[in-house]
Amino acid sequence: MKEKGLLIVLSGPSGVGKGTVRKALFEQENTQFEYSISITTRPPREGEVDGVDYFFKTREEFERLIKEGKLLEYAEYVGNYYGTPVDYVKETMDAGKDVVLEIEVQGAKQVREKFPDGLFIFLAPPSLEELKNRIVSRGTETEELIINRLEEAKKEIEMMDLYDYVVVNDQVELACERIKAIVKAEHCRRERVAKMYKKMLEGEK
Ligand code: 5GP
Repeated sequence: MKEKGLLIVLSGPSGVGKGTVRKALFEQENTQFEYSISITTRPPREGEVDGVDYFFKTREEFERLIKEGKLLEYAEYVGNYYGTPVDYVKETMDAGKDVVLEIEVQGAKQVREKFPDGLFIFLAPPSLEELKNRIVSRGTETEELIINRLEEAKKEIEMMDLYDYVVVNDQVELACERIKAIVKAEHCRRERVAKMYKKMLEGEK
């Protein structure tokens, strides 16, 4: 019997390294996940490609998608919209594949309400000092944006309670290993497996 894919939500404060960990996870050869590419109104950073890193849209286009109910969740973050296309996520799960969303915490909260069965992983910084260093050293933000992002990050850390697991991002490779171990274990969770067996047994009657 085919199991539905897992909805894996990787979230956490700004600058914690969600993007880096997610990319490392997908660069590994034996990756068994699919990545849900987000839609954003933020302008592309150097080297970013439309349809690979994000689907880049105007505010008008984004607001139309909201109205048409095409987004599983969305959030306005530091002046730009970010959102997850709902059809891709549903189709991927229905095909039995695990799908990963890498999103900020407001969006993760919305997904939790719609998909309480999802697997919610909070990526945490080893310390606040480390988080600040990472945001500054990324070098892509102005000073004002850095201060904004750090303030957001402090509030975001307080949202850890909404998650099933916490992975400390001390080293990218280690964080990836922990995430893969969590997903493996989640596939064996009794509640998930029992549902499948129940259906099987019902089919036998
Ligand atoms: P950045 O501008 O650095 O690429 O992303 C800013 C923040 O938006 C990051 O925390 C990233 O995880 C988050 N983000 C990316 N895609 C989405 C999305 O589809 N929905 C939400 N809610 N946040 C997203």
